[in-house]
Amino acid sequence: MLNKKSVDDINVKGKRVLCRCDFNVPLQNGVITDENRLVAALPTIKKLVADGGKVILCSHLGKPKGEPKPELSLAPVAVRLSELLGQEVKFAADDCVVGDNAKAAVEAMKDGDIVLLQNTRYRAEETKNGEAFSKDLASLADVFVNDAFGTAHRAHCSTVGVTQFVDTCAVGYLMQKEIDFLGNAVNNPARPFVAILGGSKVSSKISVINNLLEKVDTLIIGGGMSYTFAKAQGQEIGKSLVEDDYLDYAKEMIAKAEAKGVKFLLPVDTVVAKEFNNDAPSRVVEGSMEPDEMGLDIGPKTRELYKAALADAKTVVWNGPMGVFEMPNFAKGTVAVAEALAEIDATTIIGGGDSAAAVNTLGFGDKMTHISTGGGASLEFLEGKELPGVAAINDK
Ligand code: AMP
Repeated sequence: MLNKKSVDDINVKGKRVLCRCDFNVPLQNGVITDENRLVAALPTIKKLVADGGKVILCSHLGKPKGEPKPELSLAPVAVRLSELLGQEVKFAADDCVVGDNAKAAVEAMKDGDIVLLQNTRYRAEETKNGEAFSKDLASLADVFVNDAFGTAHRAHCSTVGVTQFVDTCAVGYLMQKEIDFLGNAVNNPARPFVAILGGSKVSSKISVINNLLEKVDTLIIGGGMSYTFAKAQGQEIGKSLVEDDYLDYAKEMIAKAEAKGVKFLLPVDTVVAKEFNNDAPSRVVEGSMEPDEMGLDIGPKTRELYKAALADAKTVVWNGPMGVFEMPNFAKGTVAVAEALAEIDATTIIGGGDSAAAVNTLGFGDKMTHISTGGGASLEFLEGKELPGVAAINDK
């Protein structure tokens, strides 16, 4: 269990509570196209309201790079949150985030009211953890709550800097839940513990592979990153994704797995095509590919091999698709893994980002134990790092 002060440990009655959420949702023409992150934030907001806090919400949205960009305003989030909560979320539209509008709105708050500040990344200091903006944010608050797991791996003003200027700092329910699930899986797993890693690049998951090899019973590799391992073992991989700088590393990891007695599973067959296109003719290859072919998914034998490896698992952590799942003709491997996870009697944890998107779009979302709201944050957690946004909160 996370040993940090939580919203259950603090008294917020009549106090101004600055709550950092992760409202970084996809928007198309001002319409929120996936509101999972808003829904995930509701329990903490409701708790703070029920306890009589004056709840001041803040978040970043996209990358405005320190400039007010109307298309990255949090205004649509205020509207949707008001509907989801059944009470007004007043939007304080200051380009400098903590300006006259925000100050007046906070001044006028009654216990249980909610105000949402403008996109914190409208201020250039936000991502540099600058002192002036950290102090501005802190000036609005008696208490700080961080519930933004998706940004917990970043030391920014609204996640870390502000904590230096507010006495009482706690984590919200979402942050607590994310860390508890990931932490229990990695540090205290029911065994067999299987990790599945896929996605495009070995380089982005080096430290995850290295750390998980100390913990898991089986490590399953798929997706674009598997071809670097295949090439390291002497296979011809045609035009497939590869990172030649990581061939030695791939060999090292295979040797480390062997030394640790960890089963290290790589694809035994591959669905290949000559073009990166859903309609490109494809075939299944065992072993080497032709020079003009590229691997776009794991093959049928690999699907069966991976399903069998998952059958008796008791804990599974999955990060990264098995192929180009966005193209239906190359999504079978990712679907097979999602199906296997949906069927087994195990704690199944999906890292955020593409794996979460894959599981949700393929319709398996409600079959998983936990789908993380943070891609980068869950990866850093799996690397064994302490997240700065969590480290900055007071211990219990
Ligand atoms: P990542 O962000 O590293 O987790 O990678 C996710 C992306 O990897 C998705 O957009 C997939 O389409 C892509 N991907 C997975 N397998 C392959 C592959 N065999 N070739 C090219 N891209 C792939």
